[in-house]
Amino acid sequence: MAKKTMKFKTELSQLLHLITHSLYSHREIFLRELISNACDAIDKIRFAALTDTDLLDGDSDWKIHLSVDNEAKTLTISDNGIGMDEESLVENLGTIAHSGTKSFLARLQEEGVKDNPDLIGQFGVGFYSSFMVADRVTVDTRMHGKEAVKWESEGTGSFTLGEGTRETRGTSVTLHLKDEASEYLEEYSLRMLVKKFSDFIEHPVTMMVTRTKKEGEGDDAKEVEVTEEETLNSQKAIWLRAKTEITGEEYSEFYKHISHDFADPAGVIHYRAEGAMEFKALLFIPEKKPFDMMMGGGDHKAHISLYIQRVFISSDFENLLPPYLRFVKGVVDAADLPLNVSREILQENPQLDRIRKNLVSRILKTLADMKEKEGDKYLTFFSEFGAILKEGLQVDFENREKIADLLLFETTATEPGKLRALSEVVEAMDEKQEEIIYLAAEHRGLADNSPFLEGFKADGKEVVLFLDPIDEFVMPQLYDYKGKKFKAANKGDAGDDESLKDEKEKFEGFLGFVKEKLSGVKEVRLSTRLKESPACLVGDEYSMSPHIEAMMRRAGQPVPEMDRVLELNPTHPAVQAVQAMYEADKDDAKLGESVELLRDLAHVAEGSKVENPTAFAARIAALMARDLQ
Ligand code: ADP
Repeated sequence: MAKKTMKFKTELSQLLHLITHSLYSHREIFLRELISNACDAIDKIRFAALTDTDLLDGDSDWKIHLSVDNEAKTLTISDNGIGMDEESLVENLGTIAHSGTKSFLARLQEEGVKDNPDLIGQFGVGFYSSFMVADRVTVDTRMHGKEAVKWESEGTGSFTLGEGTRETRGTSVTLHLKDEASEYLEEYSLRMLVKKFSDFIEHPVTMMVTRTKKEGEGDDAKEVEVTEEETLNSQKAIWLRAKTEITGEEYSEFYKHISHDFADPAGVIHYRAEGAMEFKALLFIPEKKPFDMMMGGGDHKAHISLYIQRVFISSDFENLLPPYLRFVKGVVDAADLPLNVSREILQENPQLDRIRKNLVSRILKTLADMKEKEGDKYLTFFSEFGAILKEGLQVDFENREKIADLLLFETTATEPGKLRALSEVVEAMDEKQEEIIYLAAEHRGLADNSPFLEGFKADGKEVVLFLDPIDEFVMPQLYDYKGKKFKAANKGDAGDDESLKDEKEKFEGFLGFVKEKLSGVKEVRLSTRLKESPACLVGDEYSMSPHIEAMMRRAGQPVPEMDRVLELNPTHPAVQAVQAMYEADKDDAKLGESVELLRDLAHVAEGSKVENPTAFAARIAALMARDLQ
């Protein structure tokens, strides 16, 4: 194979630059990342070989080996894992699989990230972290039945591909260490880092170690140098150990190993299920969204690693956790599942369903405890993952109520930005109140000034504010909560009001006229919900709020045109004035304009656009001119 040079995708070049410059003080993590990759590669071939032993080429003595060349100043991490062929090398190490990388980079630059591992850590830098310690990296790799290939790069703009030298399956990553990173040539440093980051890795991480030993007895004794291969990690799977023996630091390191996160986890769930099904689970609740979730992307599936009696099976069994808990990371090790079957058959196994149910209730219980006992921590969790958790209302009927217990909202009784649980809203409610009233709004400011809340405010009723676009879709699925139904403040009938009886008669003809005059309005009626504003537009009980409609249109989604009801406030002087104008002269040229203006005011007050902004502005200007003269 002739040697060729290829360019990195632009984003990757930028990212490499950022990694090498912004994560410098955390550069030692390169070893964890490379050992993790080697470990994954071994797990992959081991799993594939369960159904096809030929793939092993007789080599299943799993090992990750570190070797140092002091002369050449290189550190090599070798594994006998699955290896890569030319195509997968280019794909894996020449591009970034994540979508949304560009916008992520823009954000990093915007926030002036210098040494901010939190942000870039969410990205999962993986292999590229090698360039923090090396000015050149060589990857020599071979797959079963393929030629060896060599990838080499200085981590600037390009990489080369050429013939490899590996004779057996697996990958060797050689780091040509920078002068200031020469500590990674020392046995002591490597030993310490393996212990710190990778102690629990199931496969041995080994290194040749030279010791002086005494040989012979008495006068014949002499010191000789002996070089032996030594295993640096204890290889004890952390989830199999007793909880009491594991330190918080060990949990954190394991979490970082599986998640590529930089931060410690916000919560750890470690338990053993016994009885009808036996399994051990070690799960983590992250503190922050990982990169793909932050960009709203990702595959929307939960990735819990499934082991069967310590043998890694897969990290993408979809039915091990429902998507609404996809932020949870971790490992499940099952005792009773059959080892030697295909993924597809395993996927159908009813045991997995039982495991999932058990995991879900544990996670919900842990979150409920966190909410009760560690309020601040829970708030952080909720602001990161609340929107994902809410999806559960739509799909997990059985746990609906438990999920609802975990939800927090702003309400008309909270300060802006502060949240309150639905249960608190219900507790604070007058017993006779049968409904939880909510208003979906684009932001708090609009909600606070919404005409729809005037009546509720006057009655001293708390209104829950749905400020997250998903709320309006998922919350009604809940149907009721603690026996109270949900009712939108801006939809449906607000109930009859006896006091409007006289007005109704008086306004009857006028209301008919307004209806005729305005298109896109399906009914015009007097309002019982308005106290201060002249007009508002009300949708059907199950219609979308106007800002959600607008949002969907912007996103190119088809949204059916829905006519709404125009409600007028008969106590408002503007409404009274237009009505008087109608009574005086139905043909007055200004009457039609004034009716349109009332409708426009309803749009403006709810935060929507008026149909014809130019005409609207001209009318207001004319009114000002008249009024201010
Ligand atoms: P990640 O491990 O998060 O996917 P990396 O950038 O570390 O990201 O690695 C990219 C990909 O390169 C891996 O997903 C894997 O497919 C491949 N890879 C990296 N190291 C090895 C290795 N030692 N053996 C086989 N494949 C590897």
